[in-house]
Amino acid sequence: MSENSTNELKEKLFTKKKNACLTLSDEEISIAYDFCEDYKKFLDVAKTEREAVKEAVMLAKANGFVEFDFDKKLKPGDKVYKVNRDKAILLAVIGTDDISEGVRISAAHIDSPRVDLKQNPVYEDSELALFKTHYYGGIKKYQWTTIPLSLHGVVYLENGEKVEINIGEQESDPVFCITDLLPHLAASQMKRPSSEVVKGEELNILIGSRPFKDDKESEKVKLNILKLLNEKYGILEDDFVSAELEAVPAFKAKDLGFDRSMVGAYGQDDRVCAYTALKAILDTTAPKKTAVTVLTDKEETGSDGNTGLNSSYLTYFLSDLAENMGAIPRHVISASECLSADVNAAVDPTFPDVTEARNASKINYGVVVTKFTGARGKSGTSDASAEYVYRVRDLLDKNGVVWQTGELGKVDIGGGGTVAQYIANLDIDVIDVGVPILSMHAPFEIASKVDTYMAYRAFKVFFAD
Ligand code: MN
Ligand code: MN
Repeated sequence: MSENSTNELKEKLFTKKKNACLTLSDEEISIAYDFCEDYKKFLDVAKTEREAVKEAVMLAKANGFVEFDFDKKLKPGDKVYKVNRDKAILLAVIGTDDISEGVRISAAHIDSPRVDLKQNPVYEDSELALFKTHYYGGIKKYQWTTIPLSLHGVVYLENGEKVEINIGEQESDPVFCITDLLPHLAASQMKRPSSEVVKGEELNILIGSRPFKDDKESEKVKLNILKLLNEKYGILEDDFVSAELEAVPAFKAKDLGFDRSMVGAYGQDDRVCAYTALKAILDTTAPKKTAVTVLTDKEETGSDGNTGLNSSYLTYFLSDLAENMGAIPRHVISASECLSADVNAAVDPTFPDVTEARNASKINYGVVVTKFTGARGKSGTSDASAEYVYRVRDLLDKNGVVWQTGELGKVDIGGGGTVAQYIANLDIDVIDVGVPILSMHAPFEIASKVDTYMAYRAFKVFFAD
């Protein structure tokens, strides 16, 4: 066989997956870059699930969506949304096909790993005021020290008034910080196993140092902080009990790399898929199948709770849509299809050992289609059928969406889960589709711009199909 025909045979038989930056035109790449300008703005204003819901409602209204009213008959082209307890949101665009033939769902999560305040957080030690915290989601605790933190959330005062907190995001705002030991005195700390280099009870946030001027009283720094909080927000120490306050990195989303090919920011797991799935439904008009985007809470803690996808709120919403249009809810649900929109771990050249190169996802190779997640012998996952994988593969190929397959690390290394299994348990066909991420769950996560844009295109063509 000549060298030429060997090459031809290779070209015919071997995988055709390539780096998207090589296959896309310069124009397409610049569309992806432009797309990420608004994405970065979204990341900066939606750092918590509550803020993401608020932003989603704002964008939905601006795009003609109205609050879902069960008693108002829906018709094709209608755009509705429903908010679940300010922490999750469902959006739907009613299709022209009979809803009994199923709906198309994109499901992403808007909670991210962070540091929550405890219910009795304020204390003074060594004439400094601090917050006690309890971390949320899977974090490497040491990564959360010595970075500027902002404080987000709500406090319900004794009189029932709701106070919204957002401190540390404006240029003129103060920030907060978890301190760490200087290396000179850290010999014993550095001998701890890395999961304990900083322990959970050591994630204390520094919030002040200036004592209230009074020679007789103790806890004067704490007193001064509570005085400031009371003057500005009306907060008493006991009000923290009825509060949800979250400390997150205070820095803004930035272009990453000399070539600006990536975005570095807090909370891209999973707001990169939340934003793209949201944008896809906002840009969907008069689809055949009813399109639904759900942005959920509590994925990072296992999806339990009434704002997580292990609860019934998605089922109730789909049932409401079905009944509103005179269909049998379980028939609608069973005929539905879903893209579980969540991120995957990209190959990290510095730590290649945890991934298996032939099956791991790579930066710039497009949106990742993950057949299953879970751990060990595929436990704790929904394993998408070959039939459904083909369906999604064919859809993406036909529409020129650049995609790759991925898995969450080597077989015996670890693993993880997404919301896919909870949706599959409703008798819905589902597969994970999302963006590969470097430094996942760190305060500053990295995603590629072309992969992000391809995620948007994947959700968009799924709704339009
Ligand atoms: Mn995720
Ligand atoms: Mn995660």
